[in-house]
Amino acid sequence: MSISKLAASITESPTLKLNEAAAKLREKGEAVIHLGAGEPKNKAPISAILSAAAKLNTGDIKYTPTDGIGSLKKAVVRYTEENYDRMVSPDNVIISQGAKQALFALLYTLINPQDEVIVLAPYWVSYPEMIRMVYGIPVIVKPDDGRFIPAMNDIKEAVSSYTRMIIVNSPNNPSGVIYPESFIAELVDFCETKGIYLVMDDIYQKLVFEGKKSPIAYKYTKKDIESTKIITINGISKLYGMTGFRVGWVVASKEIVEVMANVQGQISSCTSVLLQAGAEGALNGLQSAVESLRLTLENNRNVMIQELNSFTGIKLIPPDGTYYCLPDFRAYSNDSVALSDFLLKKALVVTVPGREFGMEGHLRISYSTTVKDVKVGIERIKWALDPSSPNEIYIGERKLVRDWL
Ligand code: PMP
Repeated sequence: MSISKLAASITESPTLKLNEAAAKLREKGEAVIHLGAGEPKNKAPISAILSAAAKLNTGDIKYTPTDGIGSLKKAVVRYTEENYDRMVSPDNVIISQGAKQALFALLYTLINPQDEVIVLAPYWVSYPEMIRMVYGIPVIVKPDDGRFIPAMNDIKEAVSSYTRMIIVNSPNNPSGVIYPESFIAELVDFCETKGIYLVMDDIYQKLVFEGKKSPIAYKYTKKDIESTKIITINGISKLYGMTGFRVGWVVASKEIVEVMANVQGQISSCTSVLLQAGAEGALNGLQSAVESLRLTLENNRNVMIQELNSFTGIKLIPPDGTYYCLPDFRAYSNDSVALSDFLLKKALVVTVPGREFGMEGHLRISYSTTVKDVKVGIERIKWALDPSSPNEIYIGERKLVRDWL
């Protein structure tokens, strides 16, 4: 077989790989707890289901315009006005198959081979891979030890004449931190002055805790939507827990949207009209579904913090948003891949190694599951790692005895 060099160099999504490993163990009847997942347990909002079902019932399921159906674009325009205090037109919006495709089409539209894109660690695993898929070069900027927010000076130092874009994800997957207002304000100013695109991946924007809010980059620019360097990515996957609908969008200048539409048109023609109808239903329906999801996650998050804080060796920066946290496990191991593997084998708990997010020595733990799974999952991790915890545990029907500490 002759696989292209580029394709051969693209790594498998670690989270999808872990999902498969967990599914195999479950098939064997093992009582696996999944603290690796990136999706909550909620059902899609009723307004989304009704809207998608109504469209299906017409039997008229055809292609849509490449950049999305007008009524969904209008709903995104309204969302942008309400949540960003920005007036944009439908020409500034393109609908994609999830924020993932939105980001890929955007990178394809803006990045030339060898252009550099700055990615802030810890980062979502797909950013560096997607950048390389368009022959760009990811430049990773790491925060100082014990922090999740890189220093502005380090970002400035990483910028070269090849830098074309900086990608920011706040609230952040995997750490759950919200970047401070002053940091975003400085980034906006820097990018507008230098002519570097500032891509705000706001997919977790509404999943925030303790009354905190993620900064709105637009607030810090005087430029209008046609001339600003700020580009926003968003979607319904996290907002409504509608991951399987695969609908996301980009808000950018008309010129960028037009070229993105050409790119998407050659790849997928359009996002399914059924799923766009579902997204429109969610955006135009009662927004109490968002608050109910957020409250569930905040509760899970509080349980997770409580459980992890009772674990002597672990350092945790409490998450401000998302459904992840990224505790520091270096007291137990510096090799997060080996540690995650060990926890899956011994304790049947799925976690994601921090190395995948540019943060070795940490594990990403998701609290998008149930409170019970959070509690039992952390108890099992404690049993596997902490010599001061009882050395016997029940996993499913079996009593296990720890004999390695
Ligand atoms: N950005 C970030 C930071 C994410 O975590 C995810 C999903 N895990 C996405 C984008 C992609 O979301 P979607 O399901 O809309 O493709």
